[in-house]
Amino acid sequence: MPSVQRKGPPFRLRRLDTQTRWLVESASEPGTWYLCDLMANVKIGRCDCADFVYNKSPAAMRAEIPSDDLRCKHLRYLRERFTNALLDEIGKNEKNRENE
Ligand SMILES: [Zn+2]
Repeated sequence: MPSVQRKGPPFRLRRLDTQTRWLVESASEPGTWYLCDLMANVKIGRCDCADFVYNKSPAAMRAEIPSDDLRCKHLRYLRERFTNALLDEIGKNEKNRENE
């Protein structure tokens, strides 16, 4: 299974209008921000970066089920962060329930 761990500092993120749309800063070109939408393309997502636009998006737009292979590093990073935040919330809720 491919690792989602990256070398170097994590990407900087800015949340947009919904929890599933974010700006992710380019690691190689600081100051360049990519728009990432986690819900697009049957939840494969969509990103403005060159890797996604030129390499992934033709297949992503035709896909009927999600595949991590069709995501760029920004989408994979964002999903990892998103999943961790969600699991933290679930963990907190379960802990609160135990304490009731
Ligand atoms: Zn990207």
